[in-house]
Amino acid sequence: MASRNREDAVLVIGLGRFGGTLAQTLQELGHRVVAVDRNHDLVQQWSGQITHVIEADATSEVVMRQLGAHEFRRAVVAIGTEIEASVLATGVLLDLAVPEVWSKAITREHGRILERIGANHVVYPERDAGERVAHLMTGRLIDFL
Ligand code: ATP
Repeated sequence: MASRNREDAVLVIGLGRFGGTLAQTLQELGHRVVAVDRNHDLVQQWSGQITHVIEADATSEVVMRQLGAHEFRRAVVAIGTEIEASVLATGVLLDLAVPEVWSKAITREHGRILERIGANHVVYPERDAGERVAHLMTGRLIDFL
């Protein structure tokens, strides 16, 4: 992919349920997506649906630079349960001066670390889904939105 295109594209790290859905939805919305996951099977699984899927370890700055991560304007770290990998991958993108880094957090403490190292946006998908379902169940989704 030419480097000018990369500026408009979104780099998605981690193809779990959250990252995979995010990557697919962004693509359906017309955005160029480059997805990275270190799991070979997941990469194979998603390669039919997402145009650019790369098998790599996102905690390695050398590897991420080789992939051209520094050319992206926006990136999402969709690693949750492995907090160390989440923090390291977020740090690598920040060190590579990606201007807009979104990171997924599982717990408040995890989120606080991501904020402290400089993540621009920290999202809590599980917490947000719980709130949304509670509002849906009580018919108060309009108030919530
Ligand atoms: P979800 O709830 O979205 O399914 P999760 O919160 O359980 O995911 P993890 O399983 O920790 O999150 O990670 C999501 C994805 O990130 C996995 O597919 C995993 O292979 C990938 N991943 C984890 N560490 C790395 C890494 N260092 N480099 C690239 N991908 C990674």
